[in-house]
Amino acid sequence: MPIYQAPVRNVQFLLQEVLGFQAYAQLPGFAEATPDLIEAILTECGRICEEVLQPLNVSGDREGCKRQSDGSVTTPKGFKQAYDAYAEGGWIGLAAPVEYGGQGLPYTLAAAINEFVTSANMSFSLYPGLTRGAQAALMVHANEAQKALYMPKLVSGEWSGTMNLTEPHCGTDLGLIKTRAARNADGSFAITGQKIFISAGEHDLTSNIIHLVLARIEGAPAGTKGISLFIVPKFLPDAQGNAGVRNALSCGSIEHKMGIHGNSTCVMNYDGATGFLMGEENRGLNAMFVMMNEARLGVAVQGLSMSEVAYQNAAAYARDRLQGRALSGAKEAGKPADPIIVHPDVRRMLLEMRAFNEAARGLILEAALQADVVARANDEKAREEAEDMLGLLTPVLKGVLTDVGFDNTVKAQQVFGGHGYVGEWGMEQFVRDARIAMIYEGANGIQALDLVGRKLPKDNGRAVMAYFKKVGEAVQHTESNADLASLAKGVKSGLDHLQKATMWLMQNALAKPDNAGAASNDYMHLFGLVAMGHMWLVMAQAALRCKAQDPSTAAEMDAKLILARFYMERMMPETGARLARLSAGADAIMALPADAF
Ligand SMILES: Cc1cc2nc3c(=O)[nH]c(=O)nc-3n(C[C@H](O)[C@H](O)[C@H](O)COP(=O)(O)OP(=O)(O)OC[C@H]3O[C@@H](n4cnc5c(N)ncnc54)[C@H](O)[C@@H]3O)c2cc1C
Repeated sequence: MPIYQAPVRNVQFLLQEVLGFQAYAQLPGFAEATPDLIEAILTECGRICEEVLQPLNVSGDREGCKRQSDGSVTTPKGFKQAYDAYAEGGWIGLAAPVEYGGQGLPYTLAAAINEFVTSANMSFSLYPGLTRGAQAALMVHANEAQKALYMPKLVSGEWSGTMNLTEPHCGTDLGLIKTRAARNADGSFAITGQKIFISAGEHDLTSNIIHLVLARIEGAPAGTKGISLFIVPKFLPDAQGNAGVRNALSCGSIEHKMGIHGNSTCVMNYDGATGFLMGEENRGLNAMFVMMNEARLGVAVQGLSMSEVAYQNAAAYARDRLQGRALSGAKEAGKPADPIIVHPDVRRMLLEMRAFNEAARGLILEAALQADVVARANDEKAREEAEDMLGLLTPVLKGVLTDVGFDNTVKAQQVFGGHGYVGEWGMEQFVRDARIAMIYEGANGIQALDLVGRKLPKDNGRAVMAYFKKVGEAVQHTESNADLASLAKGVKSGLDHLQKATMWLMQNALAKPDNAGAASNDYMHLFGLVAMGHMWLVMAQAALRCKAQDPSTAAEMDAKLILARFYMERMMPETGARLARLSAGADAIMALPADAF
């Protein structure tokens, strides 16, 4: 049975020592989040994850969700009780507004606990995760009456939410959406069409499910400019706001899929279902983007979560499994063989995972802080800067963290040898579960295009210029410090490659758009490598400071300094290869005719 321990201490180190959480105290909800409260929240959520959610992960995978003959869907044994406990604990509404029953705490804390929940049980995490996404979309685009009707029950977890974009013929290209919305006399709409792959579309965890559905109002313009967003409840709320009459929608089937078996992925049929317009007509994609941006950060967390839990298991196994002798001579002569952690190649795999996990966690929390500033700050300039940074980092985090997170589950499986391939140790489940994060919420190829095609040129490159300045300043501040100089050198070289890559795109992408498409994946990963390198530089600075202030932390902080060095020596150099690849241009990629493939 796999193990999991929530990395509470690492989150605290990042929030308090690296990211300066207390400096945000003027934002609403932050002053309440004292270090003691944060510790209590992280510890308690960690306990639930370790004791309640993680034990259901393997059984949930084996049992899966089942669609019954009446169209209802049952989740695996134990999920309902776990969900009730989770909802009653107030975890779904941790960062939701107080006026709707939430706790109003920073979104950053919700992001931190989301990592734990997802590591413990990714299938489970999707149910409250989508509900939080629905809350975010309602808060920005719904009218006051809609918010008053739906928010309290979504915040308490009594009702859950979904997002319905995908149709059989369209996933990435939402301009092709066919689901129709016909006006009813009372101002509501009749929604007709089929959506596929809808996560948590039908299940037995909540008494109502609020579907947010993209559809085209009759007579609307073609393409993405004619799509509107509708609230389509499974049960229509009655006059008291409780779940009333059953709406004309149903789950046609559930998918049999590679992983996340504990989450129901549904075909949803809308047969003239009553829907209520949310936000402006024909501006539905804009409204849905609020949910998608929040969901994209949530999916980025999935990459980290899977990498973290897979790493923890691989590290424990590597300390235990006896095979061969250390190249430098036996380390445990009294035993029949040394544990495999003595072998440099096994250490390489473990260190690559660990160096990624800690930097990725730092980046997620940093992005979440920016999201808090965007949502809560009064200062317009601060909001604009945070929005720039968040917009730039979101595709990088979604694409890079899920690509590398998946690779890391495979690496962790490799540490187990054949025992990673069989079901008993649970490692193959991590691989299967992690895989979807690279596909949904905009496949990673689309994230790379979003970065290169939209986020870089936006506002004449304002965001990316500000980012280069920030990383460049961190290098400048540290390169004369003897303890940090070699780390600063690594980041400097990565930043140089990233700036050259950006320049290459500016010079070559406009004249020949295929150059942008061909470069996009390498550019996104090059960006991710530099972002993680920058995070390691800042974490190393903090580690040195903590060690000097409190010698009892020396072992923990020395480990961070070793990881920072490992990152710069063994992972950062990949930026050079990425730059060389992307600046080769699109010619070889586009040369082969389609019928020659
Ligand atoms: C388990 C699961 C859960 C899901 N949950 C939800 C959900 O809750 N709600 C929902 O609405 N959807 C959901 N989805 C759907 C998911 O978001 C889509 O599968 C995804 O957006 C990709 O769409 P597609 O499958 O149609 O692939 P396509 O759009 O056909 O893409 C196929 C490939 O082509 C690439 N591609 C496509 N267009 C371009 C382009 N212009 N440039 C470059 N490359 C391109 C893509 O990157 C991808 O690699 C889920 C899917 C799964 C499998």
